Amino acid sequence: MKLDLFKKALEEKGIEYKTLEPMKNHTSFKIGGEADIFVKVKDISSLKETLKSAKENEVPTFILGKGSNLLVSDDGIEGAVISLLGLDEISLEDDIINCAAGVSLSSLCRFVRDNSLSGLEFAYGIPGSVGGAVYMNAGAYGGEMADVLISVTCMDEEGNIKEISLEDMELGYRNSVFMKNGMIVLSAKLRLKSGKQEDITAAMEDYMSRRLSKQPLEYPSAGSTFKRPEGYFAGALIEENGLKGLTIGGAMVSEKHAGFVINYENASCKDVKELINRISERVFENNGVKLQPEVIFVGR
Ligand code: FAD
Repeated sequence: MKLDLFKKALEEKGIEYKTLEPMKNHTSFKIGGEADIFVKVKDISSLKETLKSAKENEVPTFILGKGSNLLVSDDGIEGAVISLLGLDEISLEDDIINCAAGVSLSSLCRFVRDNSLSGLEFAYGIPGSVGGAVYMNAGAYGGEMADVLISVTCMDEEGNIKEISLEDMELGYRNSVFMKNGMIVLSAKLRLKSGKQEDITAAMEDYMSRRLSKQPLEYPSAGSTFKRPEGYFAGALIEENGLKGLTIGGAMVSEKHAGFVINYENASCKDVKELINRISERVFENNGVKLQPEVIFVGR
């Protein structure tokens, strides 16, 4: 990894970056050591140039959305973290939305609500970006991104841009082709239906109030710690095993919703990982169910 040459290349291209950037400032868990380099790209050409220079200088890259599904190592991330939150345009033509990857789902939901378009109500309250939501096929309350996507525009690591249709995205439960092919989602095309603004608003508010009453939103977390095992609910299994309130260091199984590990008090990544292992072992011993983390581990 030739970090100095990479930094020089970014400077020559006028691309701003930070060094030793604490990732806890960019994750909903508020956990994570430093990224060697942090670049918030402003547009697609600076993304392309950043990837090109990283490749030339053997600098590994990690694409960051809103950091709401990540557990980043206490030892940080080697290489360059590239934030796409600067790609933030939304446009509407007839009933088709074109939305850049860095737009937050909450801004997109407000935009469609204001245009009386229905279909994304489920996403209101999911704290991710559009790119992260496509990557994860984010979903809630019976809806998921697969229901509204038409296609996405992506970039490969060589900087080539192509359009991928819904059929080729292989969207499943918290799964997509992007987890395999490493393509970066630049923007998404979504089709919604026209609806009544008051109904859309009411559905969004209903989902939000359910989240507020059931989820520990007062603490940092990365949402559901585990995927839903077939035939079970992770939270119910964890609760049945008496694990609510179990604490390791500053990490705790939420008392409000056992499906959430929360950063109760200055938790480290190590605390959260140990707690996740403890929960998984206990549920496997008592129920024979292997819990799979939904949270993605990143870093050294
Ligand atoms: P990040 O966490 O930044 O990244 C997640 C992964 O996506 C990483 O591997 C990253 O490299 C990749 N990625 C991000 N952007 C791109 C891109 N443009 N191109 C390619 N790869 C990319 N999730 C649900 O599905 N349903 C819920 O109801 C839900 N509720 C939540 C509640 C809370 C309180 C919290 C904290 C989280 C919740 N989540 C939920 C999890 C999370 O919000 C989603 O998984 C979201 O889609 C992640 O988006 P992000 O932008 O934060 O992605």
